[in-house]
Amino acid sequence: MNIAVGCSHACRFCYVPSAATIKQGPRLARFGVSEPDLEWGEYLLLRRWDEMKFLASLRAAETTPAGKLKPDGNRAVFFCSTTDPYQVIHHPDSLRRRELEDHHRFVLRRSLELIRDRSTLNVRILTRSPLARRDFDLFRTFVNQRSGGSRLLFGMSLPTLRNDLARVYEPRAPAPSHRLAALRAARAAGIPVFVALAPTYPECDASDLRATLSAVAEVQPVTIFHEPINIRAENISRIRSQADNLGISLNIEVFATRESWQDYAVSALKTVESLATELGVASRLHLWPDKSLGTSGFLRRCRNAEEHRQWLSRWWSRISEWPANQATEPLNE
Ligand code: SF4
Repeated sequence: MNIAVGCSHACRFCYVPSAATIKQGPRLARFGVSEPDLEWGEYLLLRRWDEMKFLASLRAAETTPAGKLKPDGNRAVFFCSTTDPYQVIHHPDSLRRRELEDHHRFVLRRSLELIRDRSTLNVRILTRSPLARRDFDLFRTFVNQRSGGSRLLFGMSLPTLRNDLARVYEPRAPAPSHRLAALRAARAAGIPVFVALAPTYPECDASDLRATLSAVAEVQPVTIFHEPINIRAENISRIRSQADNLGISLNIEVFATRESWQDYAVSALKTVESLATELGVASRLHLWPDKSLGTSGFLRRCRNAEEHRQWLSRWWSRISEWPANQATEPLNE
């Protein structure tokens, strides 16, 4: 479920403008967006709401045989894959801005209510914004009061607790400390959560990753996903100039070649894997190794290719947990 085209969080690594948004080029041009990729973060076009169409797609999803669904999808509607479900809406006309905010809120809540009441599907919400707190009342209605399980999982992308790095890579997203506070509030409200340590940055060393993972472990997420940043070459200069403006030095050299990036990626994944063991959350960890880490070129460079292949296949076939029948005890905020 994607409520908008565009995303005001403006993450520098975002793959959406180079993939999904290209198809929206002609539509965006009508609203004055001539370079959807370059202008990423500057526009947000809310999608129209058509309840009949939404119900039809819900029925289609409901009746899709399990064999045709990705096992790791948990039969869940994902909010959102090409934008963030919670973001601040800007408009020069304050009246129009309020109308757009109301529309945004209505579409989000109405679609969730319909999924809850007119289907047996689950919901996975992933955001970078604590604005989600305003819908915790609705999230709670997905919790089965008898079993304590839930049809909804609420998640935050939280790659680091370092505000300076977040300002470089996710310049307009809310601060990491606010995201962590929203996760704690969700758990205090009895809503099961997951966390995406994604994507972590080359500047996130073991001590930074340990600090983030320790804070995350305290909210007892159902699953902790992790992937290292995999950036498009054309975005590197933008990241570098943003970092220069803020006086931050970056490890941009890991992006110099495909090989250097692959070495960095494996090292970051393994560091998080060993930290998860150290912090007692290994069973909740779900790594997302990139497909390129299994290519013949990379395997040729591995000291133990067979061991690496098995390691990849374990992560690629892992199915994330879903607390359908497992109670989620509220934690103190
Ligand atoms: S929040 Fe997600 S969709 Fe929005 S810019 Fe960042 S990565 Fe892209």
